[in-house]
Amino acid sequence: MKVTLCGTGTPLPDPNRAGPATLVEAGTTTLMVDAGRGALMRLVAAGVLPLGLDAVLLTHLHSDHICSLNDVVSMHWTMSSEPTPLKVYGPVRTKEMADGLLAMLGPDISFRLAHHDDLTWEPIVEVEEVLAGDHFEVGEAAVIVGRTNHAPVEPSVAFRVEHEGVVAVLGGDGVPCDELDELCDGADAYVQTVMRDDLVRLVPSERFLDILDYHSTVQDAARTAARAGVARLVLTHYIPSLPAGQEDEWRALAAEHFEGEIIVGDDLTVVEF
Ligand SMILES: [Zn+2]
Ligand SMILES: [Zn+2]
Repeated sequence: MKVTLCGTGTPLPDPNRAGPATLVEAGTTTLMVDAGRGALMRLVAAGVLPLGLDAVLLTHLHSDHICSLNDVVSMHWTMSSEPTPLKVYGPVRTKEMADGLLAMLGPDISFRLAHHDDLTWEPIVEVEEVLAGDHFEVGEAAVIVGRTNHAPVEPSVAFRVEHEGVVAVLGGDGVPCDELDELCDGADAYVQTVMRDDLVRLVPSERFLDILDYHSTVQDAARTAARAGVARLVLTHYIPSLPAGQEDEWRALAAEHFEGEIIVGDDLTVVEF
């Protein structure tokens, strides 16, 4: 299995980090988990064109995790040579979001249909809303959905992707919870969005300090990894943005609680296992 961090950023714009998006290649199956800012650019940099995606999986509907989905939908459609559904799995209200996204693309869709004689179909987005405990298959990958605690973002989910006994868990945003521990059990890789609470506390902004109660710290992620007995912890979605050269500091904070491999990387970092 191959995991590529397509975007390691957060809602705050960063010239060096795309928004949250992780590519999971499981055998011949290609999944994109979340579609944050610039996701499609990074996807192509990772060698995957929009039509190469077998499905998009969304952990939750915060804007930073979905704001490039319109780009994925548009290009998946305009680059297709025949009607090709884009499968999107996400929590409850994903359908509402996708309907709004297609409505927003309404003018564009009408222009392209009018201009290209060989393009006779509208984008086909097949949304499947998933609940914690659901199982589904995409190509060669078996996916289990777990609950995460990112309140008041309800529901939010994590995904356990399995292929030939190899497992990656995409934790999304949130604080640790028993359900996440269970989902991560024995995984080969656990990808978690993280925050440095010590650095966030230095920012004199009430609105920024609000985020302290709904993100895993680096140490939280490491403790989840240790409890679940995962082989490697992959950190992403660095809050605040991780400047070049500070990776060892973040890794050391995790290493206080987790003895396995710890990956702290820039966009397009590849982890294979
Ligand atoms: Zn979020
Ligand atoms: Zn986020």
